[in-house]
Amino acid sequence: MTAQPENLPDVPAGDDLTTPFWDATREHRLTVQRCGACAAVQHPPRAVCLACSTLGGLAQVDASGLGEVDSFTVVHRAPRADVPTPYTIARVRLDDGPILLTRIHPHQEVTIGDRVEVTWWDLPDGRALPVFRPTT
Ligand SMILES: [Zn+2]
Repeated sequence: MTAQPENLPDVPAGDDLTTPFWDATREHRLTVQRCGACAAVQHPPRAVCLACSTLGGLAQVDASGLGEVDSFTVVHRAPRADVPTPYTIARVRLDDGPILLTRIHPHQEVTIGDRVEVTWWDLPDGRALPVFRPTT
């Protein structure tokens, strides 16, 4: 496994909706939210199902951790002086359906349609940030 960066992004604390997602990351489990009424899956966690408008009855379920690059951009100018560049921000469409805004790690050239799998950056508070690497 490639070492994670020294300067991790600032990640906000979880709230009522996102804490179940973050709790799963402590075990390196990537989850998506599934509706108990219509079985649609979505991300990020919301109070309402985007497919059927049901309130409540949404639960975090394990995702495959596999997907493909839907879009990406390579950042050459860092938002903070201590963040090394270049790095790649990608929209990854999970095989489960939802799109995740994430990083490609380690930094390397990718293109739309490339297959990727989840890997993790461990945060100081015990949570982990899902990032993706190309599958070979
Ligand atoms: Zn639904």
